[in-house]
Amino acid sequence: MRVAAAPTRRHDCDVLVIGGGTIGMSTAYALTRTAPGTRVTVLDQQKRPAPAPPTTGVIHSGIHHRPGSPLARYTILGATELIKFCTEYDIPHAVTGKLIVATDRAELPRLHALVQRGRENGIPVRELGAAQIPDHEPAVRGIAAIHVGTTGVCDVVGVTRQLADASGAEIRYGAQVVHIDRRPALGVTVHTADGTVLRARALVNCAGPHGAEVARMAGDTPAVRTVSSRGEYYTLNRPDLLRGLVHPVPDPTSPLPGVHLTRGIDGTVHVGPHATRADLSSFTEAVRRLLPDVRAADLTPAGTARLRDGTPTDDFLLHEAPHTVHVLNVPSPATTASLPMGRAVAWRVLGVLGSG
Ligand SMILES: Cc1cc2nc3c(=O)[nH]c(=O)nc-3n(C[C@H](O)[C@H](O)[C@H](O)COP(=O)(O)OP(=O)(O)OC[C@H]3O[C@@H](n4cnc5c(N)ncnc54)[C@H](O)[C@@H]3O)c2cc1C
Repeated sequence: MRVAAAPTRRHDCDVLVIGGGTIGMSTAYALTRTAPGTRVTVLDQQKRPAPAPPTTGVIHSGIHHRPGSPLARYTILGATELIKFCTEYDIPHAVTGKLIVATDRAELPRLHALVQRGRENGIPVRELGAAQIPDHEPAVRGIAAIHVGTTGVCDVVGVTRQLADASGAEIRYGAQVVHIDRRPALGVTVHTADGTVLRARALVNCAGPHGAEVARMAGDTPAVRTVSSRGEYYTLNRPDLLRGLVHPVPDPTSPLPGVHLTRGIDGTVHVGPHATRADLSSFTEAVRRLLPDVRAADLTPAGTARLRDGTPTDDFLLHEAPHTVHVLNVPSPATTASLPMGRAVAWRVLGVLGSG
């Protein structure tokens, strides 16, 4: 695909992307792959590439998502593409598989429903009895489990850097966008906190949790209601207790995955999140349901993370305005889904460029 016209002297680039997270970088990458020659600049207020901590770099299977939903499609396709991308560019990654473990009989119907959902999503799922759990995770206990074959982990910062390099985009860190002007015939003018002014033919807002705020800066008022929640994470001081990823059976009344254990690509084991501020003993209790050997002294606080900050919808939300595409809701697992999501955003932006 060709971009309709080259940037004129009035424009510093064709497309300005606000936000250099995985979605912003995937969009830049998809733009220059789909329409070679497109001049893309990415602005990020952070000083260097870094995912919101403690993103653990899990390549999710998509087992939980409604079969046929956009999020299921993006995640399942995204997982395959992300593994291919990591292999192609030699980025550390591993397909470890994941156990979802029932520790109470009341969870068994939900575990069986997940097996069904996984199969409908075309994901390799194996049912395990209590005696088979230690074959996969010797220190984990439960009354039944399922093994999901396609889950893995990767170096998220490495992925983000490589997307940036391979896109050929100009990346400016330490560039906080504070003001946006739009003129019908001229395109978009963006002002950063240090007084820099950049003009582009089109703007993409990939500011993650700040998406609605950036949309308002552009004078748009998308009808999104923001819901927020935060959660506490810990690291496990005895990482040898875990081989891969272990999750509880999700609680259907909570949008969050519950306290789970993730061995990252660097060997660190992250534990969490606990959705509300909890004392260490109740957190330890939640971990011990899966991993009975853990004591409070084995856990070190790893910080608090923004778990959810977006609309209460579970799907990707794009909003188009003149010369602009806003990415307003990026549901988890957006890192996994980032390559196809970035393509979807890029197509919308190229449509905006073509009509501008
Ligand atoms: C705790 C946690 C753990 C997660 N773990 C995983 C996981 O293991 N695997 C997975 O697939 N998904 C995971 N996710 C989901 C996924 O990582 C995030 O949804 C994804 O990082 C979102 O990417 P993004 O590019 O939309 O947003 P972000 O990564 O938040 O990037 C937005 C960027 O915009 C920049 N920005 C904002 N405002 C401005 C401004 N005014 N000017 C300039 N720059 C601005 C910010 O600095 C930021 O870098 C996790 C999410 C959370 C919350």
